[in-house]
Amino acid sequence: MIELNELRTLLVENGIPSYRANQVMHAVYKEGKINYSNMTVLPSFVKEFFEMNLPIFSIEKVRESISSSGNTHKTLFRLHDGKKIEAVLMRFKDGRKTVCVSSQVGCTLKCKFCATGKGGFKRNLTYEEITDQVLYFQNLLKDEDSHVGNVVFMGMGEPFLNYDNVIKSISILNDPITFNIGLRNITVSTSGIIPQIKQFADDARQVKLAISLHAPNDKIRTSIMPIAKKYPLKELMLTCKEYTEKTHRRISYEYVMLRGINDSDSNAHELSKLLHEQLCHVNLIPYNETNVKGMKGSTKNRTEQFKKILELHKIPVTVRISLGKDIKAACGQLAGKSSCNLG
Ligand code: SAH
Ligand code: SF4
Repeated sequence: MIELNELRTLLVENGIPSYRANQVMHAVYKEGKINYSNMTVLPSFVKEFFEMNLPIFSIEKVRESISSSGNTHKTLFRLHDGKKIEAVLMRFKDGRKTVCVSSQVGCTLKCKFCATGKGGFKRNLTYEEITDQVLYFQNLLKDEDSHVGNVVFMGMGEPFLNYDNVIKSISILNDPITFNIGLRNITVSTSGIIPQIKQFADDARQVKLAISLHAPNDKIRTSIMPIAKKYPLKELMLTCKEYTEKTHRRISYEYVMLRGINDSDSNAHELSKLLHEQLCHVNLIPYNETNVKGMKGSTKNRTEQFKKILELHKIPVTVRISLGKDIKAACGQLAGKSSCNLG
């Protein structure tokens, strides 16, 4: 759904009073109506205008799959130009509902361990295509008398290479007239695009920032994340420091545990040294299989040992619970070509 101001302009240009825009927004976001025909507040000529000119959804559901536990719900969407993206709804035990959105079709960055990068890059998503992923799940949850509480930009794509649309989508997600999701309940994950991290500290200081670190030094990092050549760790860490000084916000560092690549004791010590005295949190992510030859996840014991070393150095650390592996909906498994058989 396009945003209020654009909607108003469209109406006024077509001789319809702009207050109709507020009525439509209210019907869509507060009453959960996704057909103009149900919007009793609108006169029929206005309904007709909308039906002819403005589809509520910019994305169309193609397929859905639900994990065996029922906690994870992945949806494949088709965009107006036929391209496909995926988004995931996660239901946590404590009742929280989190939507993981895509920000691009594919990704230019080709991290070795990630399925999204493998398919290449097609294009950026518009702000509307981003917020409509959330609207889709919001509507699904309406029947359970529930709503989306958190949004994470951890689906397909690098959010900071589609910066303007991501920032605009965040302001819509936060808007009381639409989703009313608190900025602190929104997380953006980046592979470490330095200029945009700086910009983000000014534009969205309450939004949570997660950095995909995945290695304690440039040698390992560049071998699994090509973007690390452009933005070396020293510069990245300096930028992160500036970010926390400016925002007083704790950065969450993501670290995917790769067997024999980045998971040794000495890697853990090196990581602790790198993050020493930073206001941060480390999230160890079990590697989700993506068909990369020779790449394996660390064992549970190895991950526990790695965690212990960080704790020894007083670095706050957790191991991420990965939901939805059985339907390829976990981190790094979204590829926009889901082949499930539901829906
Ligand atoms: N492009 C952004 C956000 C999307 S990826 C980024 O890279 O941060 C979301 C998280 O999943 C990132 O931390 C990413 O590194 C991680 N990830 C990618 N592939 C993975 C895999 N196969 N197993 C586990 N985590 C993976
Ligand atoms: Fe792109 Fe993130 Fe995947 Fe790397 S991990 S290829 S940056 S989506």
